[in-house]
Amino acid sequence: MDGGSAKYLTDLVERVLVGDTGALARAITIAENRLEGWQLLLSRIHPKLGRAVVVGVTGPPGVGKSTLVNEFTKEQRRRNRTVGVLAIDPSSPISGGAVLGDRIRMTDSSLDNGVFIRSASSRGRLGGLSPAVGHMVDLMDASGRDVVVLETVGTGQSEVEVADLADTTIVVCAPGLGDDVQAIKAGILEVGDVLVVNKSDQAQARQTEQQLRAMLMLRRGPRADIEVVKTVATSGVGVAELVNAVDRHVAGSGQAEHRIARREHRLQRLIIESAMDDIRARCGGNEELIASLAKAVRCGESDVDAASESLVRLLLSGNR
Ligand code: GDP
Repeated sequence: MDGGSAKYLTDLVERVLVGDTGALARAITIAENRLEGWQLLLSRIHPKLGRAVVVGVTGPPGVGKSTLVNEFTKEQRRRNRTVGVLAIDPSSPISGGAVLGDRIRMTDSSLDNGVFIRSASSRGRLGGLSPAVGHMVDLMDASGRDVVVLETVGTGQSEVEVADLADTTIVVCAPGLGDDVQAIKAGILEVGDVLVVNKSDQAQARQTEQQLRAMLMLRRGPRADIEVVKTVATSGVGVAELVNAVDRHVAGSGQAEHRIARREHRLQRLIIESAMDDIRARCGGNEELIASLAKAVRCGESDVDAASESLVRLLLSGNR
């Protein structure tokens, strides 16, 4: 990196750290697309991390997550907290437009300077949630957002990974989900710190709430720290109670230490990613060797473990 780029990055980091939203948007683009200096940018902000509370919001499509996130954000603003919203889109870029459409519907919040909204594709190069999502969360944290909301769109593996990133995970359900309740039972309920029955204006809400409470008793034992909150996202009913429940979870014992540990874990992953990039770059000069290793595996003369070990040994010896 030349001197000009290094100075640009230093200035950018400074502006991010004082909460400049233009700089935050730029920094997120750099991290998301791995533009020049992305690793330096992320390492510079790491000493400042751990202040924001990261709240994951997950649940099946149509339960009212977007509507709820909008109300949740407004309630946080009423409490004078700044908010960053990251909407994670697990699908192709085609539906990225739809996600952005949802965001634009959050007009009350998006006009407010204390709210920063961004959507991100969730796909990593190796499948699963892109490591860039964690970096985007960290950038929002570094820029002084009090609360960072990670909203998933749709269901699947990314839910569990979102829970890994979040300090508190809200699982949203709604009455009359039918088969979706099974999906919740099977997986994502396990990750919830706070459970929400949204659409509580609908007739079967009480029944859904009772089902959830029964599931909690069965699966986790009577754990007092998992709260079930009823909301009506379209009118804001119950949302203040939801924020209170999240606050109680955040204030729970050991949570502050966990928060720091999660950032530390992301830093470790950043180092591994960086090493992987380095390995990939070094492999670049060894296409012939890699092709011959693949051939040996295909013919049964070797296996993948042995082939990768000899490749690593070669790269480490600097013999490229
Ligand atoms: P998402 O797919 O989980 O993000 O769900 P949306 O926020 O897009 O909401 C899906 C639909 O449910 C929309 O038509 C909302 O207006 C509606 N909705 C959201 N919350 C409530 C609620 O509390 N009660 C009722 N009756 N409808 C709601």
